[in-house]
Amino acid sequence: MSDRRRYKRPAPERPQPQNPDGLPETEKSAEPDRCPLYRKCGGCQLQNMAYDRQLHWKQSLCERLLGKFHSVEPILGMEKPYHYRNKVQAAFGVSRQGQTISGVYQSSTHRIVPVSHCMIEDETADAIIVTIRGLLKSFRIRPYDEYTGTGLLRHVLVKRGFSSGQVMVVLVTATPILPAKNRFVEALRKIHPEITTVIQNVNGKFTSLVLGEQEKVLFGPGYIEDTLCGCVFRISAKSFYQINPVQTEKLYGRAIELAALTGNETVIDAYCGIGTIGLIAARHAKKVIGVELNNDAVRDAIANARRNGIQNARFYCADAGQFLVDMADSGEQADVVMMDPPRAGSDEAFLSSIVRLSPARVVYISCNPETQARDFTYLTRSGYTVRHIQPVDMFPHTNHVETVCLLSK
Ligand code: SAH
Repeated sequence: MSDRRRYKRPAPERPQPQNPDGLPETEKSAEPDRCPLYRKCGGCQLQNMAYDRQLHWKQSLCERLLGKFHSVEPILGMEKPYHYRNKVQAAFGVSRQGQTISGVYQSSTHRIVPVSHCMIEDETADAIIVTIRGLLKSFRIRPYDEYTGTGLLRHVLVKRGFSSGQVMVVLVTATPILPAKNRFVEALRKIHPEITTVIQNVNGKFTSLVLGEQEKVLFGPGYIEDTLCGCVFRISAKSFYQINPVQTEKLYGRAIELAALTGNETVIDAYCGIGTIGLIAARHAKKVIGVELNNDAVRDAIANARRNGIQNARFYCADAGQFLVDMADSGEQADVVMMDPPRAGSDEAFLSSIVRLSPARVVYISCNPETQARDFTYLTRSGYTVRHIQPVDMFPHTNHVETVCLLSK
């Protein structure tokens, strides 16, 4: 997943070379409606290729990195690969001419490229950000200036539940005082009645992370809900949630299929976020144990179990590696491990504990085939065999690719 896992600033990623698949330009069919910000933004590295060429490029990438472990199934592409991002964040700042601007950081810099519409972002979210930009002046809310450290509004984050229609707006400010905040929220909701919750997040640090620690709910419940694979999930500002729900259903569907649950299994959902995979699996398993580092996400996972009437799932806030070491040390059992680590992949503590726990099946979801290949090398040297490799295009037009794979003894 592109910015997968943490709310890091979306920027510093170098634009890919113009010719990432090594094909001569003439063999590529450029998208007719290519984005005018393509080069400056750097977010959609593959936009110079037609969508079917992009899928071909991602398939080849997976074959190159993972093909030595098993044949790679054809990538699951997206039918309408536009406006799929349910989470949009914009940095706010001031242009050289003194105008308020909002958008993304230019690749590898801290310069803001103004964005009003983006072909991969949710259109409602984009419209809300444009509205906020327009409202600031009359409310005397100044955008933050990174260089002088003055001003207030640093970022706006919008999350929308595609199936529920619920919308969360997070205003990230440099200091806690947001003048006329009630009137501001009222004015915003008048233009966008679809907004169901507004949160102020305070981030006073000099950091590349978008969100700070402190959070204040200005309107609504402080979270949104969304439905995936028949379960309802509550999502907080800081919790991870897959950014492409259409493709996530395909990804999770395949993960559950590969886990081949019969109702008797103890399943570990490692790096579980708000518990999505584990709770979907819980209906087909005896017991689910979820582990996740982010406390807010664990709180959401516990609430999500209750919300869906699921009683056979427990969630723990811990480092997944340490948690598995402790499980193995205390002689606990697991039949299936479902794991979905961040881009950096898993670690030796985790992988060596898998070998000790010896589950019959490991379903490994990854947003980075490079670290997945490294982890496969470890597991295949320790008695596991890769049985399925299924790429899923979660991030059309970007150079990111997701895979869901099965290993077994
Ligand atoms: N499976 C979830 C979340 C996957 S994202 C989903 O599909 O929605 C990866 C998650 O791993 C994030 O929620 C992140 O907070 C968590 N994480 C990162 N490092 C971790 C670690 N060392 N131990 C446990 N969880 C970790």
